[in-house]
Amino acid sequence: MTGRFLPYGRQWIDEADIAAVEQVLRGDWLTQGPSIGWFERRFAETVGARHAIACSNATAALHLCMLVLGLEPDDAVVVPSITFLATANAVRYVGAQVVFADVDPDSGLMRRQDAEDAIRRAEARGWRVRALAPVHLGGQTADMAGLCALARERGLAIVEDAAHAVGTHLTGSDGQRVAVGACDRSDLTCFSFHPVKTMATGEGGMVTTNDDALARRIRAAVSHGMTRDPAEFSDLAAATAADGQPNPWYYEMGDLGFNYRMTDIQAALGLSQLSKLDAFVRTRQTLVDAYDRALAPLSPVLRPAAKVPAVSAGWHLYVALIDFTALGMDRAAFMGALRKQGVGSQVHYIPVHTQPYYRRLYGELVLPGAQAWYDRCLSLPLYPAMSMVDHDRVVAALTRLIKG
Ligand SMILES: *Cc1c(COP(=O)(O)O)cnc(C)c1O
Repeated sequence: MTGRFLPYGRQWIDEADIAAVEQVLRGDWLTQGPSIGWFERRFAETVGARHAIACSNATAALHLCMLVLGLEPDDAVVVPSITFLATANAVRYVGAQVVFADVDPDSGLMRRQDAEDAIRRAEARGWRVRALAPVHLGGQTADMAGLCALARERGLAIVEDAAHAVGTHLTGSDGQRVAVGACDRSDLTCFSFHPVKTMATGEGGMVTTNDDALARRIRAAVSHGMTRDPAEFSDLAAATAADGQPNPWYYEMGDLGFNYRMTDIQAALGLSQLSKLDAFVRTRQTLVDAYDRALAPLSPVLRPAAKVPAVSAGWHLYVALIDFTALGMDRAAFMGALRKQGVGSQVHYIPVHTQPYYRRLYGELVLPGAQAWYDRCLSLPLYPAMSMVDHDRVVAALTRLIKG
């Protein structure tokens, strides 16, 4: 092994990040202090949304979104099978049904026809489809124009799982460049700040929306369903003192909520990381372009995942699609051989519909695009601290394994 081990992804933490966290630790509030609001406002500005609500992680963010859609037990949400477990699980947390959609075998992204097929299957089971939950796998966006048109025709909500897509831009509904999170063609968008994602807060998540009512309900649900805003009180007799002013201790719980709050420690780190987002994205794009060029000679055994047109991706993953049958080596052996050369890799993802829990719940389902993606996908090291020397080491390791 030459040089240190290269994981498939890792955070970038610098002295400014450490100083930002230290400042909170020396201050008055470890949670529910001013950093949360600063982080939320800066994030909303960055993506161009009216509202951003910070929460404990993207799983919580997805749960909150499903909650405010008011889903009933026979309501269903379309979720692509190639995603992390959390996208589907959020639907189950509110007691609604997941209907798994297939994906494009070469990009891993849900297409309009995949969502339509899923809707037909849901209706055959007697479910009412209420929402689509496209996943922006690896940082590229699902076909938002096609999915948005379908959602309009059928009166469906759209919740974007953008855990991979902070810093991604696409062509918006008016032809202009918009950021993922602007909710240009969706109701709600969720982000993750897990250390392996593009920017880190430790654990952390964010919901963005342009809908004032949804934002208000999510904000309440993040903290037990409580509000201290007199404008939102309904029991005015209990809320008001003899002088007509609100009682100083008073708060109200109008709906059931959770403790899904982000801490000020995390928010300070998030603010500091956000100031580096453009640089993170530029480095990731440079590395992706370099991989595309350097790996071209390994085609057709290894090909990069298909690029989606009109997207400037904030690449979370670099996924290579490898024909392990043609290579005559299975993926476990291939990953082991890479690891021996100091190169980490990972599989994103095992199709969620094949998990024992979902099989038990819904029975067997065959999704050929998801299967074809799963059979070939391998995520290679990609993170801003990677140097060109590191990149060359990954390419050399792959070349040795494929060309012999
Ligand atoms: C990481 C991830 C999540 C969950 O994010 P957490 O912040 O870890 O809860 C959800 N969806 C996708 C696609 C993810 O990659």
